[in-house]
Amino acid sequence: MALQLPIYMDYHATTPADPRVVEAMLPYFTQKFGNAASRNHSYGWVAEEAVEYARTQVATLIGAKSDKEIVWTSGATESNNLALKGVAEFYKDKGNHLITTKIEHKAVLDTCKRLEREGFEVTYLDVGKDGLVDPDDVKKAITSKTILVSVMLANNEVGTVQPLAEIGKLTRAAGVLLHTDAVQGVGKVEFDVEAMNVDLASLTAHKMYGPKGVGALFVRRSKPRVRLVAQMDGGGHERGMRSGTLNTTGIVGFGKAAEIMTREWRDEAKRLFTLRERLRTKLFGALGDLHLNGADDPRRLPGNLNISFTYVEGEAMMMAIKDVAVSSGSACTSASLEPSYVLRAMGVGEEDAHSSIRFGLGRFNTEEEVDYVAELVIRHVHRLRDMSPLWEMHREGIDLKTIQWAAH
Ligand SMILES: *Cc1c(COP(=O)(O)O)cnc(C)c1O
Repeated sequence: MALQLPIYMDYHATTPADPRVVEAMLPYFTQKFGNAASRNHSYGWVAEEAVEYARTQVATLIGAKSDKEIVWTSGATESNNLALKGVAEFYKDKGNHLITTKIEHKAVLDTCKRLEREGFEVTYLDVGKDGLVDPDDVKKAITSKTILVSVMLANNEVGTVQPLAEIGKLTRAAGVLLHTDAVQGVGKVEFDVEAMNVDLASLTAHKMYGPKGVGALFVRRSKPRVRLVAQMDGGGHERGMRSGTLNTTGIVGFGKAAEIMTREWRDEAKRLFTLRERLRTKLFGALGDLHLNGADDPRRLPGNLNISFTYVEGEAMMMAIKDVAVSSGSACTSASLEPSYVLRAMGVGEEDAHSSIRFGLGRFNTEEEVDYVAELVIRHVHRLRDMSPLWEMHREGIDLKTIQWAAH
């Protein structure tokens, strides 16, 4: 089959829905459109049954003991908000201290900032050069006032997989709750809420080949039973934890996506690892002065490759390879191009952060696509470097760090 352009290699941002997921969803838009909360007719029962079946599918994927531990939400942003604010509010008499890391998703970091404005104290843990949290740092940060630790399973930019099982041992021993934003790791690496002593976990369907706008929060019901204050007032759905008519079609799709993941993730992880290594080998084989950002295997997501192409602006690169959807390590704010806070927290310099590209490989990528992208990137790195006076000086052996630049 001929290569189709554009090529999507940004699977950390979102994923297309799997056709099997779409097929499962379709009847729930039309014939089976009932409200799962309608208790007195078959339309309601059919919807409720579908929602409960999906609950089992998602619970199975993460190793939850009971379906009742799954609370449906609109996505991981809401799940993170509900977990952190809900727990903080419920346990505030017990303590006002939370612990998280500097490389969490904004949905965790900005929620923490709000909690700080409301009087909570938050410790933001540093990460190493490899983007990993040291469990010892978690241990040292826990005080008698600590109620919750929140550490993501895997990072969305650099693909680092955190030592969550070790952290879970510590938090359980200390009697502190553990929340994880599991969005990027679930279905890609080992994740089991029982084995890892996780008490709350945020999930979203659209990062695992399900539809957008539906997610879940795992809330442990025993040993310990986690309590939280609902953040949405209304009809008391989801055992009082999240009011609002359930998104039946989305939930059915999420359930199907979870079922597929449970069955296929190990094989898929192997395939993605092979594709990623193919891309990495080609790029590193043909180009010098590349830096891999993030930890190496096994502490790296199989489909993630984040590379700094020294002396190449990430933005210029993305413009040059418009037919390939990837991300750069710069975030566009209204006024300027900010280097990624994740890379900065890992100690990556501003230049290298601006020259980083994130390749996110996923279910529908092929070997042919990897080869095409590798060839294209190699060609443009050569071209952009040839245009760069800095690259020329570097090649002539001038140490750029010793140069005194004139003020502009
Ligand atoms: C995408 C993402 C989120 C946000 O999920 P939504 O469902 O889009 O709100 C949260 N955390 C991580 C790590 C993500 O990658």
